[in-house]
Amino acid sequence: MALALADLAARLNCAEYKNWVKAGHCLLLLRDALQRFAGERLREFHRQLLARSPARLAAPLGSPGCRARCLPRGRQFQNSCSLCTEWKKEILNHHTNKNGEVHWGNCKPWLWPSNSWEVAKAYMPRGQMDVSGPDKCDAAALLNLFNFCDQFSGIDQKKVREVIKCRNELMHSSEMKVPSSWLKEFEKRIRNLLNEFQNVPEAMAAGTRIEKLLSSDWAVYVPGEDDQPDGWEENTAVCMTESQISEIEMELIKERLKEIYLLVEEQEMLSEENLNRIQMIKDFLEDNSDLQISLREDMQRLEGLEKGGYNQERSMKETREDDPDQEEDEDCSFKKKCVPEEHLL
Ligand SMILES: [Zn+2]
Repeated sequence: MALALADLAARLNCAEYKNWVKAGHCLLLLRDALQRFAGERLREFHRQLLARSPARLAAPLGSPGCRARCLPRGRQFQNSCSLCTEWKKEILNHHTNKNGEVHWGNCKPWLWPSNSWEVAKAYMPRGQMDVSGPDKCDAAALLNLFNFCDQFSGIDQKKVREVIKCRNELMHSSEMKVPSSWLKEFEKRIRNLLNEFQNVPEAMAAGTRIEKLLSSDWAVYVPGEDDQPDGWEENTAVCMTESQISEIEMELIKERLKEIYLLVEEQEMLSEENLNRIQMIKDFLEDNSDLQISLREDMQRLEGLEKGGYNQERSMKETREDDPDQEEDEDCSFKKKCVPEEHLL
């Protein structure tokens, strides 16, 4: 335990990493504060859709929805049955960006007539397949829903997009660090957005918590190492315990890992950029044994991905080395083995 605390204390010694965790915590508080609101709005939206066009959208008697086992993949949802086609139309009708991408693969279309959350997932970024409700999703999912579903257009969309941008910067930061100037700007944007929810008591309470959180210094006291600094207890008591900080940290690192897995899944071959991302988070986990223990499965998955990418690169090199023409005309002989450009996707 003391060892884990020492690791945590060492990490939080880095101001920019601490900023990263704090900003991530703000997003978790934002999500917690808005999930009830989002869930209620969605149920209302779903009820209205069904009430307006029961003939088109209601499930057939005796089944919750589509009986054709329609299954979308990624951004594709073709060959859907008539019920799913009607729902698709309705979902697109309420999309604020008619030409934007829809991640149909998030949804279980057979639940559309009975489950408002499955409809909501069509307005969210990829990777929501197994997320079963507003209490299980991340801030990015809720913010994208507010942005792309016209039921939420009463919220100032510019303020929503500004927080989405910050969230992406935060979660795409390879080093998981942000400067204090960034955190200041982020605080302003979060506050602007929360002010849009004057009628949501949780949002107002979150505003106060976020303010306190960002002004506290999150010092972690490691027993036996130093004397407890003066005033330390009052300082942390306002905010949180070490184990709470650890929990938040873990949730954020998992979100970052999920982001990496999604990026990797999108490509058949591991790009250098993604390989770097994998190596950086792996190094980070290796340096922090307390995290490595809790994230053992992720560590293995990262190693597998890294090896996969490495083998791909090596097999390409080997092809080149085995080629007898290689020394005379390396470029040319290598090109001959490649798929002609027009066949590449
Ligand atoms: Zn169907």
